[in-house]
Amino acid sequence: MAQVRLQNITKQFDGVTAVEDINLDIADREFMILLGPSGCGKSTLLRIIAGLEDPTEGEVYIGDTMVNNVMPKQRDVAMVFQSYALYPHKSVQDNIEFPLKVRKVPKAQRAAAAIEAATSLGLGEYLDRKPGALSGGQRQRVALARAIVRNPAVFCMDEPLSNLDAKLRGETRAELIALHQRLNSTFVYVTHDQVEAMTMGTRIAVMSRGHLEQIGTPQEVYDKPSSVFVAQFVGMPPMNILPAGSLEAGTHLVGVRPEHLRISPDHPLSLHVQLVEQLGHEVHITGSVGDRRVVVRQEAGAVTPAVGSVVRVGAAQHVRHRFDAVTEQRIAE
Ligand code: ATP
Repeated sequence: MAQVRLQNITKQFDGVTAVEDINLDIADREFMILLGPSGCGKSTLLRIIAGLEDPTEGEVYIGDTMVNNVMPKQRDVAMVFQSYALYPHKSVQDNIEFPLKVRKVPKAQRAAAAIEAATSLGLGEYLDRKPGALSGGQRQRVALARAIVRNPAVFCMDEPLSNLDAKLRGETRAELIALHQRLNSTFVYVTHDQVEAMTMGTRIAVMSRGHLEQIGTPQEVYDKPSSVFVAQFVGMPPMNILPAGSLEAGTHLVGVRPEHLRISPDHPLSLHVQLVEQLGHEVHITGSVGDRRVVVRQEAGAVTPAVGSVVRVGAAQHVRHRFDAVTEQRIAE
C-alpha cells in the first residue's frame, strides 16, 4: 500500500515559511494534484515527500512507515522534473536503465526493463539516440520511462509538461492518465495549470501562500470552491466576483461562473461591453459591472452585443456562489 500522509508539515528556508502546518492524506493509487500559483509551496511539499527537502516540523508517512529519516533513494519514490534531468552523453536506453544500474540490477534484466518501459511510451525506435536528438515531448517520455523502470510505489512529478507546446501537452496529459491506470501506483503531481489539474487528478489540493485552501475532486472544487481564491484559480475564464449588493441584497460577495451569466433586458446588472472574443467553439464577452471586470461565456453562434454597448446581465439563484466579504471564504448554504 502506498498511501502518503503529511502530518503538520512546516518548512522554513532562512526565515521564509514555504509551507505551514500542512495535513494531507493521499490514498493508495490516487492521482493527487498539488495546484497553486508560483511560490505557493507546492514544489517544496513534493520535494518533502520525495525526501529532497527535510521538513522543519511534521511527519511524512509512506504506507505505514514514517520516512523523515529515510534517504530519498530508499523511499520507493521516483521523481520526474520539468527539466527532464537526462544525461546528455548517454543514449535513451542508458538513461532509462540508469536507476537500475545504480541498484546493481543485472545487465540483461535492466535492458529488458528499459526496452519494455520505452516501448510502452512509444520510444522503442529511439533507444540508441542521445537526448539532444529528441524533441521535448520525447525527452519527457524518457524521463517518465526512467521513473517507470524503478517500479516505485509513488511517482512525484513536478510540472513535467510545462516545457511542451500546447498540442503535445494535451497528448501527454492523456498518456499520463493512461499510465496511471496501467501502473496502479500513487501519483503526486505539481502544477499551476488548472486544466491539467481538472483533467488528470482524482483529487486536487489547491494551495495558496504555503497553505492548503481546499482538497476535493476536480468537480467538487469547481462546483463548490471554498474561497474566492479557489473560485478564481480553478476555471477559465475565472469566476466573476460581483460587487456586494448588486445581484442580491446583503454585504457578501456573489460569484458567478462566466457560463452561468445570461444576457437579457430584464436582468439587474449593467454590463459595459469592452471586448468580444470569438473562440470558434464559444464567445467571451468582457466588460465591467461597476468597478468589477466581468466575463460572460456564450455558445458559438449566439447573438453578441457590440463593443461599447451596455447590456443587462444576471444569473439564476442556484448558480450563485456566496463568499464572506471580509474573509472571502465560502458561506455555507
Ligand atoms: P513555482 O511554481 O514557482 O515553482 P512553488 O509553488 O513550487 O512555485 P516553492 O518552490 O515550493 O513554490 O517555493 C515556496 C516558497 O519557498 C517561495 O517563497 C520560495 O521562494 C521559497 N523557497 C523555495 N525553495 C527555497 C530555498 N531553497 N531557499 C530559500 N527559499 C526557498
